[in-house]
Amino acid sequence: MTICYFCKGKVKAGHVQHIHRWGNQVFILENVPAEICQQCGEVYFAPHVLAEMDKIALGKAQPQTTIQVPVYAFA
Ligand SMILES: [Zn+2]
Repeated sequence: MTICYFCKGKVKAGHVQHIHRWGNQVFILENVPAEICQQCGEVYFAPHVLAEMDKIALGKAQPQTTIQVPVYAFA
C-alpha cells in the first residue's frame, strides 16, 4: 500500500496504538506496525498483523499490563 484507498494521499509505514474491540472486550495494542495515510490518517494493517490481533483477542497472548477503563453513558 503506497496510496490511500480513501483520499489517494501518501501512505507511510509506522507504528500506532490500536483499540481492538472483540464483542464486549476492548484491547489496547501498543506499537502496532501499520501504514498510515499522511493526509487523512487512515490506518492500514498487514494481514499478518490482523491475524496477530485475532490471536490476542482470543486470549492466546499474554498482556504486558492490564488497565481499568471507566465507561460513561450519556443520559
Ligand atoms: Zn487518506
